[in-house]
Amino acid sequence: MGETHNTATAATPTISGDLMSSHFQFSDHNSLPEPDVQILTSSGLRIPAHTGILASVSPVLENIIDRLHKHHSSEKIIPILGVPCDAVSLFIQFLYSSRCSEEELEKYGIHLLALSHVYLVPQLKHICSKAVGQRLTVENVVDVLQLARLCDSPDLYVKCMKMLYDNFKAVEKTEGWKFMQENDPFLELEILKFIDEAESRKKRTRRQREEQRLFMELSEAMECLEHICTEGCTTVGPCDLGPSNKRRGPCNKFSTCEGLQLLIKHFALCKNRVNGKCSRCKRMGQLLRLHSSICDQTDSCRVPLCRQLKLKMQRERKGDETLWNLLVKKVASARVMSSLSLPKRKREEPRETIHDHGIRNFRK
Ligand SMILES: [Zn+2]
Ligand SMILES: [Zn+2]
Ligand SMILES: [Zn+2]
Repeated sequence: MGETHNTATAATPTISGDLMSSHFQFSDHNSLPEPDVQILTSSGLRIPAHTGILASVSPVLENIIDRLHKHHSSEKIIPILGVPCDAVSLFIQFLYSSRCSEEELEKYGIHLLALSHVYLVPQLKHICSKAVGQRLTVENVVDVLQLARLCDSPDLYVKCMKMLYDNFKAVEKTEGWKFMQENDPFLELEILKFIDEAESRKKRTRRQREEQRLFMELSEAMECLEHICTEGCTTVGPCDLGPSNKRRGPCNKFSTCEGLQLLIKHFALCKNRVNGKCSRCKRMGQLLRLHSSICDQTDSCRVPLCRQLKLKMQRERKGDETLWNLLVKKVASARVMSSLSLPKRKREEPRETIHDHGIRNFRK
């Protein structure tokens, strides 16, 4: 409430000149009848207004006005207390004009949000929620969150929670947070719960993405293994094909294929393959076993050991069988996904990631 309003001479000041000129320039002000009600603010300022207009915009004010009529009060006064008197002026101004400037929202958005909620003015509430949400800061987010909860403004509430989650360390140090901790332990609990859930949601998604990437990599490795053993690729080919028949150019999965070719060459020559001391050979063995589990053309398949491994696995059904079966299923479905349902551009994306991470598994 500015000094200017208190300079009015009457004991109960009415709206003063500058307020009238800056806030109350309603386009049809002159065509309106005499004001028939006064809004009383905390500072004692009285804002003249029209019951017809107030009642038509706010059902709560309509009720209050009805009651005033019933009691035949000679002097119709509606007190709107507890907020700065400029905010009340702006509120009344909005009821007339349905307009509010950015500057006004910047200064009184929070108060207008509260007023629009209390007096049920949804258009203003919508504008204020948005404006306050755009001006969230680490300093005010806790206060705004409390307001959003009080005013039942879900969009703003979620926005505050996200801001809290993203800046928790900084928010924890603010006065607003400390005050809330002391005075509203339930809200603190609510916030911590939200953060906890968001955190585990993030972890879950990350894990799923990593898993999916692994399955895609394995699925691609399976494709490469088959095509290396069937038609050959750059440096490795089936033993029964002469060099002239070997495919020369790199295939379209070359980053994976190359790693696999190196691994196959190593596997063929490694002295530690049989004694189980070589981790690269072990990995090759797993890839062959995985192929054999997925392969549905064992009889004609040219991948080494495909048939033998299948028979071996059928003979020994071991404890980790369910896990293995799950892996086989996931790799098989990743393969279907990559070859059928994904559009071409998407299908090529995972290759980047394989280049970054997966291929190292084959080369180590
Ligand atoms: Zn290839
Ligand atoms: Zn080896
Ligand atoms: Zn096979």
